[in-house]
Amino acid sequence: MRSCKLPSGAEMPALGLGTWRMGESARRRPEELDALKYGLDLGYPMIDTAEMYGEGSAEEIVGDALHGRSTRPYIVSKVYPHNASRAGTIAACERSLKRLRLERIDLYLLHWRGGARIEETFEAFHKLKNAGKIGDFGVSNFDLDDMQDAARLDGGLTGTNQVLYCLSRRGPEFDLLPWMRKRSIPLMAYSPLDQGGLLRKAPLKKLADEVGCTPAQLALAWLFAQPGVVTIPKSSNRERVKENFAALQVKLTPEILHELDRAFPPPRTKQPLEML
Ligand code: NDP
Repeated sequence: MRSCKLPSGAEMPALGLGTWRMGESARRRPEELDALKYGLDLGYPMIDTAEMYGEGSAEEIVGDALHGRSTRPYIVSKVYPHNASRAGTIAACERSLKRLRLERIDLYLLHWRGGARIEETFEAFHKLKNAGKIGDFGVSNFDLDDMQDAARLDGGLTGTNQVLYCLSRRGPEFDLLPWMRKRSIPLMAYSPLDQGGLLRKAPLKKLADEVGCTPAQLALAWLFAQPGVVTIPKSSNRERVKENFAALQVKLTPEILHELDRAFPPPRTKQPLEML
């Protein structure tokens, strides 16, 4: 399984299961749990969640999916900015651990910048790391200027920056991604299918036919082809969970990558980081 090295030296898998929108409806919960369990059986090595998703219910579903397994995937979760004070971050992490029924979260992120001073949040992250409650820490939705602020803090971040990045939203390639690559900080691409919107684009469908894969697999394989990028597609459906996992096997030729650049051009100027 492909992986990326974090600034701490730990390895982060290249592919994980997203969980946004899970836990929001009791009726959908069985299929969401089934999709996560099925994904873990297939060998997905990572799950991304957050205290925000379903206001804690997504973390509970992840806890249920992990229950009784002899091995567990790499777990990523996130703290709300309004909880990210020095004491609030620690309390939020404790609550997440309880819902996940785990002793440790492998990678803990500040969901977006706002509210608390990042100095305080990072101080709490260091405490949690020293206590063994988290493996590494990072941020999400940080544009270049925010990353430069984070890099100035004592010790910097040990993990990743999780941002919106996919074929139809390539803004980070202009400055954020090169800056992160220079510092060996991997980028975790969220909404890799643009929440499904990307899959309706005609050029993607045409090129997927040429490659002999599905549009979703092509969108994911393109991300795997970007150095220092990992991704976390979400699906609550077994077939699509399987389809997305198989994207790891899709090989893209330089010609197809060139065609993708023509259909979905990289940015020529700075674009402020988009956020969902
Ligand atoms: P994705 O780009 O992963 O798209 C998910 C949507 O696409 C769902 O509607 C899903 O439907 C559908 N889908 C999934 N696979 C396929 C497929 N093979 N073919 C057709 N449709 C498919 O969007 P997300 O916004 O969910 O992003 C992924 C994850 O990133 C989130 O779940 C979350 O963990 C994280 N995230 C983080 C954010 C942040 O601020 N840090 C913001 C947004 C996301 P179905 O379930 O029915 O298959």
